[in-house]
Amino acid sequence: MTRLLTALLTGFLISAVTVQPAFAKEYEWQEERGRHTIVLYRSAPRDFVQSVEESAEDYYSRITRTFGFPRRGVWSYDERVKIYIYDNEDEYVTVGQQKRWSHGVASPYEKIIRTYPSASGFFDTTLPHELAHIVFREYVGYRTFIPTWFEEGVAMYAERAKRFGAHNAVREARRRGQFRTLQELTLTGMRGINGRQEAALFYMHAASIVKFMIDEHGKQKFVRFCRKLKEGKPFDWALDESYPRFKNTDRLNEAWVKFLDND
Ligand SMILES: [Zn+2]
Repeated sequence: MTRLLTALLTGFLISAVTVQPAFAKEYEWQEERGRHTIVLYRSAPRDFVQSVEESAEDYYSRITRTFGFPRRGVWSYDERVKIYIYDNEDEYVTVGQQKRWSHGVASPYEKIIRTYPSASGFFDTTLPHELAHIVFREYVGYRTFIPTWFEEGVAMYAERAKRFGAHNAVREARRRGQFRTLQELTLTGMRGINGRQEAALFYMHAASIVKFMIDEHGKQKFVRFCRKLKEGKPFDWALDESYPRFKNTDRLNEAWVKFLDND
């Protein structure tokens, strides 16, 4: 999830979650300061905290390589990423004020990640996903509007496991009549998501389309596209200038559907 999502959901969160200010105030963090990250935690085991620190450093390099983004120097001193590790899901939801279906949230602008040690997939999915949000926004910046599906798709592409099943999951959604076009995904964004099932559907679409753009059309075009976004070009202009076959989101949607149906 992203800051954008957090902003969109603020209204929901305030009404959906009761946070005791006194409790929030008393929530005291311990700090593990690394060279490139600061991990803040309460009762998480120390070896877990140290693994977060080490894995975050490895992922930074891997994610920039995966997307072909230029490395702009490592995060250090005031640039360090802050990773808040809540003790468990309940504290993440109540104290951290997050949606229960999410396992982590990134605020790329502030370079903050909030998460908790979930039973499975923390190091393979949650951590690279949230770090990818930060690496992506560090590169493209905030000059142009980027649809949530694209931003989430990029983050999911950083998760090794999930991206592999994405196309088949969307094909299955098409068979069940649950397919969403890119236009629909853009319009509903995160606001249309209620509960884990809808979230899973949204994220699978997001993963599939970004995987299609990178794996089927090459990293070079993808990097060029991201560079255009960084320059502040509107999303469809950037598409037209880097993927001449697509021209705009509608055409990208058509090509993606054709690929899903024929491949
Ligand atoms: Zn996300």
